[in-house]
Amino acid sequence: MPGLMQDWSLTCNRILDHAALQHPHREIVSRSIEGPIHRIAYRELRARALQLAKRLDAYGIREGDRAATLAWNTWRHMEAWYGIMGVGAIYHTVNPRLFPDQIAWIVNHAEDRLIMVDLNLLPIVEKIWSELRTVELVVVLTDAAHMPETSLPVVPYEDWLAEVDGDFAWKELDENAAAGMCYTSGTTGDPKGVVYSHRSNVLHAMAASLPDVLGLSSRDRVMPVVPLFHANGWSLAFSAPLNGSALVMPGARMDGEAIWELLDAEKVTLTAAVPTVWLMLLQYLEKTGKTLPWLERVLIGGSACPRAMTEKFETVYDVRVMHAWGMTEMSPLGTVCSLKPEVANLSGEALLDIQEKQGHAPFTVEMKITGDDGAPRQWDGATFGRLKVRGPGTARAYFKGDGGNILDGDGYFDTGDVAHIDEHGYMQITDRAKDVIKSGGEWISSIDLENIAVGHPAVAEAAVIGLPHPKWDERPLLVIVPRENATVTKEDILAFMHNKVARWWLPDDVAFVDEIPHTATGKIKKTALRAQFADFTFS
Ligand code: ADP
Repeated sequence: MPGLMQDWSLTCNRILDHAALQHPHREIVSRSIEGPIHRIAYRELRARALQLAKRLDAYGIREGDRAATLAWNTWRHMEAWYGIMGVGAIYHTVNPRLFPDQIAWIVNHAEDRLIMVDLNLLPIVEKIWSELRTVELVVVLTDAAHMPETSLPVVPYEDWLAEVDGDFAWKELDENAAAGMCYTSGTTGDPKGVVYSHRSNVLHAMAASLPDVLGLSSRDRVMPVVPLFHANGWSLAFSAPLNGSALVMPGARMDGEAIWELLDAEKVTLTAAVPTVWLMLLQYLEKTGKTLPWLERVLIGGSACPRAMTEKFETVYDVRVMHAWGMTEMSPLGTVCSLKPEVANLSGEALLDIQEKQGHAPFTVEMKITGDDGAPRQWDGATFGRLKVRGPGTARAYFKGDGGNILDGDGYFDTGDVAHIDEHGYMQITDRAKDVIKSGGEWISSIDLENIAVGHPAVAEAAVIGLPHPKWDERPLLVIVPRENATVTKEDILAFMHNKVARWWLPDDVAFVDEIPHTATGKIKKTALRAQFADFTFS
């Protein structure tokens, strides 16, 4: 017998409709690419997104077409997403920090018909233009007055938009229709296209909003420093309007000073980014003596948040750290480390022990850890296994079927991460399956060692890689970037780490470098580091 409730499809544009009706005056504040701070309210943003949908329709963009965005976080990028979805097309966010060849590969693979690009990223499109096979038009996200000289077929966004009025209705779509695309960074093999549906974006945004996840409300002022092109922008372009939270968009400037300025001036209550961004902010605060009086929560994910970073935010700046784990394939949030009653009364080191974990999964994310035989392992907070997940926000296949069948017999997706889960459901990533160090048949977690090393006051950044060892198969090498003006020796570091991990986990050697290579999403690039130290031999 069918239920007798209305058929109200879970499409993304309903989120913006809701924000415009219930929170019409709530602001989206952006640092524009042209320079000045720009303000717009949800009601106007919706009107402009409808106008864009109409403009795209008039141009000939049809349901299922892909449109790339190559842009920083601003109101125009939000409009682009909602306008593209509103005409039934698919937003495809492209990471401008990738190598130009990779960008060309991704745009060709997605068969994007147009590219909406920020003013200062146009040179990337110029560089790859001759390689692009499907792009017909480049829409530059600015107005005619700011248009640069170029030989490409370009239109200035504002003037192009103004050619139509905003009298348009969102296309009626099946909630399972594709809404957006984001490619994985392709650290192994070619990048793969993850295709979000309207339904998966809406359900994920609802799950992300819950009190034990991000706990968003209309009183929040949310600053996604994480770019919209990184793993679906951590869903904030959906979850913030869904709750009527104000948005603060940092544009192209993401240095410590620029971020602090917006956090302070715009009284941001919640912000989100990868640890490297927070490293820059904390260094800026230390140098200037500035504080964070408005900020309540900071969401940190993408790579492991070092314990010392959590401690600093919490004890020096009185900001709650929410450590999170996710991936492009998961829309992207998988777990967030909020405090269940079982741990809510902890303090000091015991609380940090919990916050070092990536957290527990909300409704819509099911997790398991399995051994090499595929059998589930126990949740005891110590037994490692491969982390597998399933749910309505997790991919069941990649675009064009690349990578083949990606699910196990029970419909779980293998994340490629190794983790343990404790009896309260808190998961902790111990490594990427390919980064874990195999020493004498046992596993050493490179992430654990890095976390401890960065707790040393003279260490700015640390990375651990496994290198071949004649007796033990692999042994850990610790690579360190010292803080400015700090002097530190191998002996200091090893003495500091002594007693914090099992003796046999201690790195066999420590190398000091000026810089550690990073991926386009700010993670330590272990493949490059392993290549850099390929000839290294343990003394
Ligand atoms: P990209 O490499 O482009 O950023 P993803 O965001 O999809 O792609 O990367 C997902 C991976 O990032 C996860 O599988 C995991 O290995 C790692 N990761 C994400 N968050 C964390 C975290 N809090 N701690 C440790 N690793 C993390």
